[in-house]
Amino acid sequence: MRAARFFGPGDFRLVEVERPSPGPGEVLLRVRAAGLCHSDLHIIHDELGGYPFPVPLTLGHEIAGEAVETGPGVDPSLIGRRFAVFGPAGCGQCAFCRAGRDNLCTESLAIGLARDGGYAEFVAVPAHALVPVPDGVGDAEAAVATDAVLTSFHALANVARVRPGETVVIIGAGGLGLNAIQVARAIGAYVVALDVQPRKLELARQFGADLALDSRSVDPEKPLLDRRIDVVGDFVGNDATKLLAQRLVSRGGRVVLVGLGSVAGSLLGLRIVADEVAILGSFWGTRAELATVLDLIGRGVLRPPVETHPLDEILTWMQRLREGAVEHRVALVP
Ligand code: NAD
Ligand code: ZN
Ligand code: ZN
Repeated sequence: MRAARFFGPGDFRLVEVERPSPGPGEVLLRVRAAGLCHSDLHIIHDELGGYPFPVPLTLGHEIAGEAVETGPGVDPSLIGRRFAVFGPAGCGQCAFCRAGRDNLCTESLAIGLARDGGYAEFVAVPAHALVPVPDGVGDAEAAVATDAVLTSFHALANVARVRPGETVVIIGAGGLGLNAIQVARAIGAYVVALDVQPRKLELARQFGADLALDSRSVDPEKPLLDRRIDVVGDFVGNDATKLLAQRLVSRGGRVVLVGLGSVAGSLLGLRIVADEVAILGSFWGTRAELATVLDLIGRGVLRPPVETHPLDEILTWMQRLREGAVEHRVALVP
């Protein structure tokens, strides 16, 4: 089968590999769609300070597919059904999994990050990582639900705990950010989007931002709005946006960091201490939250923007994503 594999810094290509067979407790999926995440670019271009997992590795951690074969110990009636893949997998046994924080599982290998993922015709995954796709949710939407939507939902609804009527600033209206805007809007927040591209600002307004501004035009020394800013979500995460987030948030507010644009960054100690600004980290989401976001998509509450392209074009779309030339989340179809 064809698979897009990461061999080491700067070396990512489509190759022929053996079709995997499902091991004990696993299911083989025929991939229907796999979303392209900016995190893949950080991995390929060695921007995360070294990659801790063995290579070569098939990337692709936003997966939807159809079960075509079951391994030993797995109910064969799963065959023929459509599933979204819960990427962190979660062992179900460790202290984090037992506490419902399976995004932080210490025992399982994240799919497409630490074990082979979905930029391929087939992928073998643990059966407990499968979440059924509701009728009415398309394959591409189900794929991007597993990260672009799930991560945004986890960060705003459950880490920053955005409340109705609060004001939320979203920095970066890209693959994640356009979903984050919708989540904040659905909760009932007033939403301000910041990006550097006019087209992204247009899309941000289209997807529900009350206000969309060029982040470079924002003077952090002057109040951005005539209302307090309760939450700033940084979906870019470079040094400049992390500082901007800390400067923009009001006294007593929360900054939630999602973007991995740089692995370091400065803390504004006086703001954090004297103004009681909370700095929160947010990673992916939980399996229970994935079921929730699939339900929200099925009911039309969230409408993840996604466009599909053939898996054979993956290198082209990776390059476009790097140049900021992708409008919607891209999902690759083998
Ligand atoms: P993307 O490329 O689709 O979107 C990034 C957006 O940020 C683009 O619209 C771009 O124009 C905008 N941008 C760039 N510089 C900016 C600036 N200075 N000010 C405002 N906007 C700016 O990327 P994505 O797939 O949405 O991922 C965003 C980030 O989130 C990446 O760093 C990715 O690795 C990270 N991520 C984190 C998690 C997590 O669990 N924490 C999960 C998925 C992705
Ligand atoms: Zn991702
Ligand atoms: Zn676990």
